[in-house]
Amino acid sequence: SLSPGLATATPRQLTPSVREDQLNQADKMRKERERRREMQLRTRQEREQVKREDAGNPNWEIAKMIRVQRVQLENQPAKSGTAGDRVKGHQIVVCVRKRPLRRKELTDRELDVVSVLSKDTLVVHEPRKHVNLVKFLENHSFRFDYVFNEDCSNATVYEFTARPLIKHIFDGGMATCFAYGQTGSGKTHTMGGKFPGSQQSSMDGIYGMAARDVFATLKTAPYNSRKLSVSCSFFEIYGTRVYDLLMPGKPQLRVLEDGNQQVQVVGLTQNPVKNTGDVLELLEMGNSVRTSGHTSANSKSSRSHAVFQIVLRSETKDQLYGKFSLIDLAGNERGADNSSADRVTRLEGSEINKSLLVLKECIRALGRQSSHLPFRGSKLTQVLRDSFIGGKKVKTCMIAMISPGLHSVEHTLNTLRYADRVKELSVESMAPK
Ligand code: ADP
Ligand code: MG
Repeated sequence: SLSPGLATATPRQLTPSVREDQLNQADKMRKERERRREMQLRTRQEREQVKREDAGNPNWEIAKMIRVQRVQLENQPAKSGTAGDRVKGHQIVVCVRKRPLRRKELTDRELDVVSVLSKDTLVVHEPRKHVNLVKFLENHSFRFDYVFNEDCSNATVYEFTARPLIKHIFDGGMATCFAYGQTGSGKTHTMGGKFPGSQQSSMDGIYGMAARDVFATLKTAPYNSRKLSVSCSFFEIYGTRVYDLLMPGKPQLRVLEDGNQQVQVVGLTQNPVKNTGDVLELLEMGNSVRTSGHTSANSKSSRSHAVFQIVLRSETKDQLYGKFSLIDLAGNERGADNSSADRVTRLEGSEINKSLLVLKECIRALGRQSSHLPFRGSKLTQVLRDSFIGGKKVKTCMIAMISPGLHSVEHTLNTLRYADRVKELSVESMAPK
């Protein structure tokens, strides 16, 4: 119905069409008023919700600054997402995966300080203080080959990281895929699969998905006529010691280098596998041996590198054809852990730190096409030596995992800087000279 104000202003002598116009006009204004009222109500509700959230939250100032920053970032046009084409054919691919806040973190009102802006960029909002104690945000932006946000599934991550490497091993290449990051950032979740209960569902992880695609590819031409056999190994590197995860009792193995610089893990189980089911069985066995499950900061599995390998052999030539190594690295927070009173823990930390630094140098050397690889600097790189030499026959992918929480911001920045250093040269080496 018409609002009273307008009704009295309507002169009687007007023609029906003019009157109709006025009715329409009035209707429009009414709708506009309703829309405005609704918006005001919504803004008020939002403001109240924010107030409720901020009430009692010691970090409400930071939370507010991050909200403002996010609105500003949203209003900037996102860079075109051509990551896919850019990455195709790269020898070294470096990606980042941000996990969602955990239930415990949500109930503790942990702040999410990581914003994924596009398929290849992210910003870390680091709270800082001026000398006069006024708080401010330092926003660090990073760019990688791919950035996966908290909504991405393991399947999506797999699609852009390990999956392209399957074809590479079938073409006779060597491939590695590393999960790097702080303990609790999602390395085991990504590589080994989700934990719906206490048991890990291996089919949902990168190990399982890679195995599935290896057997699928094996059935297609031209590979089905090449007489290739598939076997798997699964071992753990703890300090400088290597343990076979596919043998009862987890025996320690020796690493030997022969005169031709061939590195051998003596006695390592190479279990023949005929289908994905066989592989999942092996994974289950290895994981149960690996003090596995959810990794707490103190659990042993966070202090060891786990290496799962899928090996293709040519039966006719009786020789190695291709190899895919998938590695769940030790937590990278150990390097900074110098405070521990326990000498063994400190030594372990420095060993992990060393192996991760050498790993970075090896990947960088690969990117430079350098013939000098410092692989002897750690047990990890030593046993992976044949996956770093061989020029174009070698491809590698690193997935840097990050926790979104405010309390992890320092580790998150360390992880991203490390990943950035790995990528730096891989980009340079692709640029035309
Ligand atoms: P890490 O192996 O790096 O120490 P985990 O893989 O054990 O970390 O993950 C720590 C916790 O976070 C686990 O409870 C895991 O289920 C959960 N988690 C990790 N990544 C994700 C994700 N992308 N989505 C949902 N939960 C995740
Ligand atoms: Mg883990």
